Amino acid sequence: MHARIDPAPVSGATATPPYDTRALQAADSAHYLHPATDHKALAEIGARIIVRGDGIYVWDSEGNRILDAMSGLWCVNVGYGRRELADAAYRQLITLPFYNSFFNTSNLPAISLAGTLARIAPPGFNHVFFTGSGSEGNDTIVRMVRRYWDLQGQPRRKVIISRRNAYHGSTMAGASLGGMDAMHAQGGLPIPDITHIEQPYHFENGAGLTPDEYGVLAAHRLEEKIQELSADRVAAFIGEPVQGAGGVIIPPASYWPQIQRICDRHGILLVSDEVICGFGRLGHWFGCERMGTRPDLITFAKGVTSGYVPLGGVLVGERVAKALIDSGEEFTHGFTYSGHPVACAVAVENIAIIEREKLVERVREDVGPYLKQRFEALADHPLVGQAEACGMMAALVLVKNKRPLERFAEDLKIGLLCRGHMFGSGVVMRAVGERMIIAPPLVITRTQIDEMIALIRRSLDLTLKDVKARGWV
Ligand SMILES: *Cc1c(COP(=O)(O)O)cnc(C)c1O
Repeated sequence: MHARIDPAPVSGATATPPYDTRALQAADSAHYLHPATDHKALAEIGARIIVRGDGIYVWDSEGNRILDAMSGLWCVNVGYGRRELADAAYRQLITLPFYNSFFNTSNLPAISLAGTLARIAPPGFNHVFFTGSGSEGNDTIVRMVRRYWDLQGQPRRKVIISRRNAYHGSTMAGASLGGMDAMHAQGGLPIPDITHIEQPYHFENGAGLTPDEYGVLAAHRLEEKIQELSADRVAAFIGEPVQGAGGVIIPPASYWPQIQRICDRHGILLVSDEVICGFGRLGHWFGCERMGTRPDLITFAKGVTSGYVPLGGVLVGERVAKALIDSGEEFTHGFTYSGHPVACAVAVENIAIIEREKLVERVREDVGPYLKQRFEALADHPLVGQAEACGMMAALVLVKNKRPLERFAEDLKIGLLCRGHMFGSGVVMRAVGERMIIAPPLVITRTQIDEMIALIRRSLDLTLKDVKARGWV
């Protein structure tokens, strides 16, 4: 194959098939610093370059078709290649590509999306603050909850409690709210007045307890932390209904109702980070509805536009909205792209697709239960210690031995080995330590779930063979 591109193309648009993958990889490494990446290691192996998507599949520059069981990065809920979304963006781009919402101005798509969100959100959510991403949404949360307590005349209430191994984004506030040690180790995080409690991970922490017993115990860690700090210093608790980037940690059913009771008892705000769980992923518009909580604030992003363009925000419940509005003062916060007309136009159309195609109901009643049945059956594989699913999120744990339970040494990086076999077999599954996780597009069919499970099983077989050849089991 001969080179069709300049050594350092200025944009992907200069590249047409057949692609010179090596040259593209060299150009990639020469100039592009990828997120959360060991750049030296990537330069040696070269990036996989994704060139096209359709439905639940993407294609790389070598022409391989890959079943995208991760929906890009938890976002392509309605699948790739939706012309309706491209048309909505194009119509808005030629009408009004940008206008700000700062100086007593507004725009049609932002007004329309705000109303749509108020309609589909749980009761009591009638207001929305727009941002450009989930991280900015959580930065907004930090400022908004502290502003709320100032307005209540309780400025001492500053502390936000989160969980270890939580993911809330990568800005200073987002990474601080998150519970990722590796992120805190760089840049002097967390920022002041953010603290973390144990995550509700039964497999790791719940030995000897039933999931529901453990769920109550894990929730009690919040009560303990509040006592330790003194309730009059605590502003809010934040959590993902199901932890995503932490490895699809599905909490026991007893956990969230108990958390709600504790927040109510101490009058602290409950924040549901729905950046992944929102927009149908758990078979409801928002994950809190499945978990049985009544949050005060909801962070959203990703699925709101199915990832076609960047957009995030915060749904603001009555209690906080009323305080902000009644104060009669400016909330000194906002972004150039708050209420971006193109992003909002795409979101309105994306939500219309989800409603038209009944994707929320479909996840709850059809493909969700089917995925659960098919995915959890993977637990019979010799490498799989546990397999569980919740809506369109699922995870399995790779183990060295099942009975007695023996885990792989961390330095073997078993997840990355398995991920390599998954990619090689034509399915994207993400590795989080020893957990292999998926979050497929909501439009996936039963037949495609069968295909995905077959690809996963084949990759597990290849991983087992590989692990045996290396003498790891
Ligand atoms: C992805 C994610 C974020 C951050 O969103 P960005 O758009 O990457 O800034 C925040 N919270 C959760 C739960 C996420 O999964």
